[in-house]
Amino acid sequence: MKIFSRFVVVTIGFIVAIYLILALSLTQGVALSHHKDSQINQVILDANKLEPQNATVMSSLFSYIDFVNSGDKIYIQVEKTDNKISAIPVKTLLTEMLLFSNFPLLFLLTLTLIIPLFVFNKKQKRLNKSITILNSKTDNLLSAFNLDLPKYETENNLARLNHSINSLSEAVERYKRDTETSIFQDKLTGLADRHAYLSHLKEQLSHAEKTDKKQALLFIDLDGFKQVNDSFGHSFGDEVLIQVAERLRTIVRNHSLSCQHPINGIEQNLSRLGGDEFSIFINDLIDPSLAVNVAQNVLHEIERDFVLGNKVVKIGASIGIAIYPDSASSPFALLQMADVAMYRAKTDGRGIFRVYSPEMGSKMRRYHYLLEEIRLALGSNNFTLSFQPIVHVDDCSIDYFECLVRWHHPVEGTITPTEFIPIAEESNLILELGDWILFEASRQMSAWYNAGMTRVRISVNISGVQLKHRDLHDWVMDTLSKVGLPPKALMLEITESCFIEASKNTIESLQKLRNEGITIAIDDFGTGFSSLCTLAELPVDVIKIDKLFIDQANDNPKYNKILHSISELGHQLNLKVVAEGVESAEQFELVRKMGIQCVQGYLVSKPETSNNVGTKVLRTNLNHIAATGTNIWLPENEPAARTKLHSVK
Ligand code: C2E
Ligand code: CA
Ligand code: CA
Repeated sequence: MKIFSRFVVVTIGFIVAIYLILALSLTQGVALSHHKDSQINQVILDANKLEPQNATVMSSLFSYIDFVNSGDKIYIQVEKTDNKISAIPVKTLLTEMLLFSNFPLLFLLTLTLIIPLFVFNKKQKRLNKSITILNSKTDNLLSAFNLDLPKYETENNLARLNHSINSLSEAVERYKRDTETSIFQDKLTGLADRHAYLSHLKEQLSHAEKTDKKQALLFIDLDGFKQVNDSFGHSFGDEVLIQVAERLRTIVRNHSLSCQHPINGIEQNLSRLGGDEFSIFINDLIDPSLAVNVAQNVLHEIERDFVLGNKVVKIGASIGIAIYPDSASSPFALLQMADVAMYRAKTDGRGIFRVYSPEMGSKMRRYHYLLEEIRLALGSNNFTLSFQPIVHVDDCSIDYFECLVRWHHPVEGTITPTEFIPIAEESNLILELGDWILFEASRQMSAWYNAGMTRVRISVNISGVQLKHRDLHDWVMDTLSKVGLPPKALMLEITESCFIEASKNTIESLQKLRNEGITIAIDDFGTGFSSLCTLAELPVDVIKIDKLFIDQANDNPKYNKILHSISELGHQLNLKVVAEGVESAEQFELVRKMGIQCVQGYLVSKPETSNNVGTKVLRTNLNHIAATGTNIWLPENEPAARTKLHSVK
């Protein structure tokens, strides 16, 4: 189209140039012929013999010149007198003028016109070629981005290129925005991820530093989410997380805490840090109670039922709050401190929030230190077992030994199980440690059993983590068969709170173990608030009443009554009742009167090494052992109690 129009322009230009040359030559020629020295030959024509019609075309082109026609030739009339016309043939005039007068000038003129036109045209062609190449390249790019190609007929090359570049730059902008969004966004919930959140915190903290303002960070960890995942599957768990994110978004909006990213629109004050951990950031904390209000609102919202299809799920949350600059001054430290506070909320009972205090930090460091030390201790056999006898109140014969783990730390000395067992449980290291404990306890008991203590059992504490992760029946039976201990010589202690949380599978496994002959005890009874009806249905043989009740029973009538009813209940359900933590002869007397069959406590004995047990039990009264399969354990260090026990006996 463009080439065609240029051709027309050039043609018209050419025709105009020819016309101008002709006009110039003719005018000049006519003027010269009037001159008396003119060398142009004129002819005399008879005016009556002229044929005027053929000259009309020329006359209309050059109206200021008089043309005449005679014979086959066209003449230009110079002069007319009577019937005579003096004229010059057009051909002669043009030859004279073009050749000898105007031609060089005209030639130069034509050259000056044509050369730039030619150069321009050549350049234009080259440019056009480049634009065509560029267009084909942009076409490729456009189709790579799945964008519509521009239409050929309506646009010229350059406009098309312009159009393509515009579409491309829009696409690049869009792509950049999308990539930025997907890089910094948690894929599942659409919330800001940890990375984006931390860089947002960095900006906010430096701003707060300048303006001297306080800020707060909430670290939210879901309670019971793992169980949801385990019971209903991961895609179900994912749905719960999406709903949690939605509820948190609403909370952020309702408390006017929102701070959206100007480009990608992501909420920057809310993040999914990973797994079931979320965080809310409050900038400009004028009133510290705002953080508490938000935390309470989060707890309330997360505790609301989650409805997925026809299933209703209940979870909770534990929240840690850290305040800038009181708790920490860098984003990472702030997050860590809130995490520490969250951990405290978990250990203080879950479903609550805690505000960070420095004392929590040192606990956390201790936790991580001990975690590493437990790992090392497992590798270097730093754990040992001690054994505490549980005796019958009526004859002080040994009913069983409770096996209690001991840790002799190379630097710190003895570290108590109340400190390290919860850490081992939290980190699942209890699985490895528990395997060793069960094996070692069974091995020891097997030796005592073979030495004649055939009616004594060894009792091993089993934690909730083991119940969840071990195939109880096979694990226990395999261990017993490895050391050759009959099942009737083993007892497992499971705390009341673990029983409450135990799955149907666990209960079934425990029942299977009971069928094999293993005794099951419910430990720390009275502290887990299980309903008495459930107790009747649990696969247990022994109730161990927590030390708390024994401690209080002599002074506090309420506890006395509870102790009494537990003892009664045990009798009704045909369960053996053991009183834990009996330290004095009075306590011993009290529980004996209540009909409790067995006692455990420092009054009888502290936990002993296996060597001491061997010395005390196996080197005395062997005949008694042979006859009864057990022995008597009398307190050695307390003469008064000893006398009392003797009198009981
Ligand atoms: P527990 O199962 O209730 O064990 C009884 C605890 O009471 C033992 O503490 C024992 O030494 C202590 N005790 C016994 N009689 C008395 C007494 O008259 N007075 C006082 N004040 N304390 C008495 P220990 O050995 O420190 O163990 C504490 C807890 O650690 C245990 O409580 C148990 O929950 C856990 N634990 C100990 N060993 C193991 C183990 O091998 N595996 C597991 N999973 N947990 C263990
Ligand atoms: Ca126990
Ligand atoms: Ca206990």
